[in-house]
Amino acid sequence: MSKFISQKLNELEAYVPGEQPQDRSYVKLNTNECPFPPSPYAQRLARQAAGKLNLYCDPECGVLTSVAAETFGVNKENIIFTNGSDEVLNFAFLAFCDKDTPAVFPDVTYGFYPVFAKVNGVPYREIPLTASMEICAEDYFNAKGTIFIANPNAPTGIALSLDKIESILKNNPGNVVVVDEAYVDFGGESALSLLNKYENLLVTRTFSKSRSLAGGRLGVGFASKEIIADLNKIKYSTNPYNVNSMTAAAGVGALLDKEYFEANVRAICENRAYMTAGLQKLGFTVLPSSANFIFAKKDGVSGGELYRSLKEKGVLVRYFNKARLTDFVRITVGTKEETDALLAATAAVLEEKL
Ligand code: PMP
Repeated sequence: MSKFISQKLNELEAYVPGEQPQDRSYVKLNTNECPFPPSPYAQRLARQAAGKLNLYCDPECGVLTSVAAETFGVNKENIIFTNGSDEVLNFAFLAFCDKDTPAVFPDVTYGFYPVFAKVNGVPYREIPLTASMEICAEDYFNAKGTIFIANPNAPTGIALSLDKIESILKNNPGNVVVVDEAYVDFGGESALSLLNKYENLLVTRTFSKSRSLAGGRLGVGFASKEIIADLNKIKYSTNPYNVNSMTAAAGVGALLDKEYFEANVRAICENRAYMTAGLQKLGFTVLPSSANFIFAKKDGVSGGELYRSLKEKGVLVRYFNKARLTDFVRITVGTKEETDALLAATAAVLEEKL
């Protein structure tokens, strides 16, 4: 840090993303990416767009927005595209939180939320998950702040029903409720159907998981046209060209190649069941996941210990050095072969420990 950094950022601890090691090849199950490459159609459209990189991209993402409106059954004015869903989430912290309107989210959730609050200089309040690591909807009634709920939640993978999400919306009419649906395609119930009913709803989605575009950085927000206008005010005051033309083109392909998307989601869900059963056989407790990752623990083995031992064997998973989470590891659901490699490495680690 230089001596020039502003006072407001002096104390800020940045978010630490999952490792992206370049030193050797790993079975990489640590950052919830999709193990399958982008749809061939998405790749073709991105290649075509590369020939026009001399021109600025369309700040309105016009073609992509039309295709998304069709795909998700919403109006174009209810959509904003961003550089990953991290960006639309950051916009929401900036637009809808204030000194008197803190951000409100679970104590165990996406680790970026507190960082977004801090970098934007807004207060936040954390609400503990229940003993079974679930979100209790009633705890969010009249929360007097802007609510951020990841559904399914991360890193637990546990989903909240649409009824419960609706009850939170109903009981916070004066505040925005952001439902972060990064993992919804793997088994959650989307709140998109409530868009016309609640003016306080903002749904965010990502193309990083189910649509294989993590490296392209594409996220999307759905809300009333007034909320979208607020978010656009920030976008056009910071970086109107936030989605580059190759990514926007790839996004169109990813949405239109429905068969590819559905086959990949199906494969991940099958592998999730296979991975869960394999780990349970090895004595693990696995939380019920509706996402493309599982959260698992085994008595007598700490999350950190398992993470390090698996890394030595060439398998990368994620662990969190945080209260209530240190017993667990979070494992991305990969291909069948990657799952077999994980199960074999885990069995070997347990054997060495005995
Ligand atoms: N929300 C949640 C809950 C996540 O886990 C992630 C991925 N780390 C994101 C949002 C952001 O994803 P991206 O910026 O790649 O769209």
